[in-house]
Amino acid sequence: MSKKKKNVVILGAAGSVGSSGISVIKAARDKFRITGMSGYSRMEELAQLCREFDCPKAVAANPGCYGKLKELLPDRECLSGIEGMTALACAPETDILLCAVAGADGLLPVIAALKAGKQVAIASKEVLVLAGELVMKLAAPGQLLPVDSEHSAIYQCLQGRAPREVKKLLLTASGGPFRMWDKEKILSASVAEALCHPTWNMGRKITVDSASMMNKALELIEARHLFGVSPEKLDVIIHPQSRIHSMVELTDGSLIAQVAIPDMRLPVAWALSYPERYGFDFPAYDWRSGGVMEFFEPDKEKFPSFKFAAAALQTGGTLPGAMSAANDVAVARFLTGEIPFGGIWQIIEKVMDTHTVRPQSSLEEILAIDRETRIKAQEIKL
Ligand code: MG
Repeated sequence: MSKKKKNVVILGAAGSVGSSGISVIKAARDKFRITGMSGYSRMEELAQLCREFDCPKAVAANPGCYGKLKELLPDRECLSGIEGMTALACAPETDILLCAVAGADGLLPVIAALKAGKQVAIASKEVLVLAGELVMKLAAPGQLLPVDSEHSAIYQCLQGRAPREVKKLLLTASGGPFRMWDKEKILSASVAEALCHPTWNMGRKITVDSASMMNKALELIEARHLFGVSPEKLDVIIHPQSRIHSMVELTDGSLIAQVAIPDMRLPVAWALSYPERYGFDFPAYDWRSGGVMEFFEPDKEKFPSFKFAAAALQTGGTLPGAMSAANDVAVARFLTGEIPFGGIWQIIEKVMDTHTVRPQSSLEEILAIDRETRIKAQEIKL
């Protein structure tokens, strides 16, 4: 085991996955050092984390919060916006970037880190959904590591396997809080009902995505890019207990699964420790607890997200990004009470139906299309 500590930059340090990253590093301070952190608007939390971990650099991802950050941390290097996050991502001292910011904000920092040869632990699935074709071209084998639990599981199951030995990648899904609900009732579900996830404790946006199954739609695209497989090799299985985090079916009939409690610290610890596995005191799945594991086919009629995912997978280019941007905006509109739950699907459908698909040619174009799509999704009247 190497003696040198790994220098980690955490983008989105005060968010849900960022907090898991903080816990992992706290549990292994002999292995890691935090050399930079960003937060979007919770500057007090960010400043407190910087002091606790003696972190020399901080970024206010929302430029409007920079003044506040500088006031809270007069003795540290403070930066702002996507430029600030990008500077941290590829700073000379950075060994690993943990990218856990929402939306498209992670794209430029991830690209910069990959180009600079940094290891990247990616939790921001939007980055791959938006620009997976461009991002994967820059990533050397083992350089870009998933933090999403399903993809972490698949990555672990694939280790030592040749592509020709792999028949299917099976992403598991808890099914979310509306798995047993009638379609009509789902369409008018409240914010509180959508935020009531049965197994995972996560941020608000991803929790709503789990209820609509848009999370799985995004994850299918993410898997396609990360593992370089064709859409026919991807499937979703509903597994309400969230103990098996995904499986790989091999051509000889074997099914390899990764099993753990639903706790984001585990996939984060795996990605930060890679290619080794450092020891942590996180609890293992306890088979003695007598838990039953169930598996079901997803209901693709009830959840239109599967239809959107199939179209986005098949078409590629800028369509997956448009799907994701429309979903981002629609979820925000749902969370403020402006539209009903079913309105999320209506907005995505309208945006995808009218989107002019272009190839993923340049980052500038992808980001420009992302901005346009968001405005369009905001203006759709239901
Ligand atoms: Mg996931």
